[in-house]
Amino acid sequence: MSFDAATASPALPRTPPSGPSSTESSAREAIGGDGGADLVVVGAGLVGLAHAVEAVRAGWSVQIVERDAAAVGASVRNFGHACVTAQVGELLELAQDSRDGWLGAASRAGFWAAQAGAVVVARAADEMAVLEEFAGLRGADAVQLLDAEGAARRLGRGSQGLVGGAFFPADLRIDPRVTAAAIAGWLQQQPGVRIHWRTCVQGVEPGVVHTSRGPVRGERIVVCVGHDLDYLFPQLADDNDVQRCRLSMALVDAPPDLGENAVLTATSMLRYDGLAQTQAAGALRERIAQHRPQLLDIVANAMCTRRPDGTLLVGDSHHYDLAAPPFLDEDVADLLLAELADVLGVERLRVRQRWQGVYASSATTPLVRAEPAPGVRVVTVSTGIGVTLSFGLARQSLAQL
Ligand SMILES: Cc1cc2nc3c(=O)[nH]c(=O)nc-3n(C[C@H](O)[C@H](O)[C@H](O)COP(=O)(O)OP(=O)(O)OC[C@H]3O[C@@H](n4cnc5c(N)ncnc54)[C@H](O)[C@@H]3O)c2cc1C
Repeated sequence: MSFDAATASPALPRTPPSGPSSTESSAREAIGGDGGADLVVVGAGLVGLAHAVEAVRAGWSVQIVERDAAAVGASVRNFGHACVTAQVGELLELAQDSRDGWLGAASRAGFWAAQAGAVVVARAADEMAVLEEFAGLRGADAVQLLDAEGAARRLGRGSQGLVGGAFFPADLRIDPRVTAAAIAGWLQQQPGVRIHWRTCVQGVEPGVVHTSRGPVRGERIVVCVGHDLDYLFPQLADDNDVQRCRLSMALVDAPPDLGENAVLTATSMLRYDGLAQTQAAGALRERIAQHRPQLLDIVANAMCTRRPDGTLLVGDSHHYDLAAPPFLDEDVADLLLAELADVLGVERLRVRQRWQGVYASSATTPLVRAEPAPGVRVVTVSTGIGVTLSFGLARQSLAQL
């Protein structure tokens, strides 16, 4: 299988830089042109790109600076699941706003964003109890309870081994392999927008971003560098306890009758606040700790999403540290694959690719939003829901910059 994000990336600059040191860059000609942009965005992952899309919608000129030749970070390694329903509080509001932003961007830029919802599968009574309590809190429109047959129909499998489930109609799906490249490609066609690929940002001060190719000037600057926040703003990363979270992922052949809805399971009920904060989640956690402790050891969120080409994204585990060693443990992958095979009612899943995802994580805050200098905003999603929140965060930033 080819790696779509890379092949779909926009054309690279023809002339490589001659390579002066970073200390020379401030004396060099501004690479973004003379006037400066209304907004400079650092990082062309989904959070940075969402900021650019919303800025274009507001009529602003935008320059984006990305160190790589294409987005290859968390934004292409994820499930592509806008997990709207299971958020709470401000994150729920941001997610709902983001959903609207995603749909608007998809219709303008012409990429796939499916209002396919999510199914949460219950294979035990204590899992169903969590879903029933959550449905009681949110109402039957937002959380549609399913019996075993209803859950089986949503999964395209038989009902044996299922107790029931819930359908979250507001959840959205995008294809993480192609979406960032599609948005970047569309942005480059808009008047007043320019993307500087293979250009590393080395420092930011009011009105100017210092890069490996020279300064880029802008009235406002937003920094969306995900888990690499500590390279540019180490104190901000330390103050917010930002670490790197590593996730084990695989691409498998999807069972033929599985729909486009995201599929969440019992371990997802322990991760997403809306479900994890129910009273019933306590008993579920206890049972899993007793009978399937290995799932808690790897901090599993066993879930999957089908891509439009019929392949299935399967994951995930969570390991936290300041650095992100690249090594993937086969036992972790086996555990997740066995769990998902059971949920999908198949004997085994044929693996086509494996990879490690990395995102920013903080035990103290789900979002790092800061203004380290006038006109400079930093936005890092420090829990694994940057797809879900990206457009909501972008709208919030633009209103506050
Ligand atoms: C395996 C996995 C599964 C996930 N599943 C989901 C999901 O289903 N739903 C959901 O909502 N979220 C999910 N997430 C989280 C989500 O993917 C991230 O929160 C989101 O992609 C973060 O986007 P970002 O743009 O902030 O970061 P990134 O995608 O990492 O982009 C940051 C960009 O900044 C660039 N950059 C960094 N430093 C510099 C510099 N100095 N100069 C120039 N450029 C720089 C990088 O090259 C990169 O392209 C998942 C994450 C992973 C890893």
